[in-house]
Amino acid sequence: MSAFSEISNIYCVGRNYRLHAAEMGNAVPEQPMLFSKPTYALALMDGSEIAVPGNRGEVHFEAEVVIRIGRDYEPGMTADELIDGVALGVDLTLRDVQSELKKKGYPWLAAKGFRNSAPVSAFRPFPGVSSFGSEPFGLRINGKEVQKGNITEMIFDMQTIVDFCAEHYGIGRGDVLFTGTPAGVGALADGDRLQLVYGSEIWGESVIRLR
Ligand code: ZN
Repeated sequence: MSAFSEISNIYCVGRNYRLHAAEMGNAVPEQPMLFSKPTYALALMDGSEIAVPGNRGEVHFEAEVVIRIGRDYEPGMTADELIDGVALGVDLTLRDVQSELKKKGYPWLAAKGFRNSAPVSAFRPFPGVSSFGSEPFGLRINGKEVQKGNITEMIFDMQTIVDFCAEHYGIGRGDVLFTGTPAGVGALADGDRLQLVYGSEIWGESVIRLR
């Protein structure tokens, strides 16, 4: 995917909004809960169709703010110094598969890491944490708003996430992080039109194809 040739690692934060953790029946974690996706999961939301598995149970949408790291991490750097780009993305999840994996104690890759499981808008310059938090982000499906959140509601803020990620896994230029989804997740249907919105501006758009 040439639009994302600069992207190295994709990290995702789970359960980072209280109401989403509650709607899934999950406890709020005591430290950031991270997982990752292969870069093959990326798909640009430029109005085109995105094909996802249609024969493995429900495919859930999770709208998220995605940050891009612009330089290699050094302890003491602020999130504003580290983050150079921001996008909106969807952490697509095979929910029924995930439930089975959870029961068995298996890794989440099959539920979270399938091809096209990380549709994302084009990246824009990051205006800074406090400025970006001045507007809500959200997801519309077929014109109807289904999710709305604000990074000010995150359980673990940007600084905590990047520091935690750096300490445990490493973080540097070209890495991106999906920062968690607010409440309102649900299942997609074939032909659904997804629009990711920041304030009142549409940042990314795609049509889902269940195959
Ligand atoms: Zn997510």
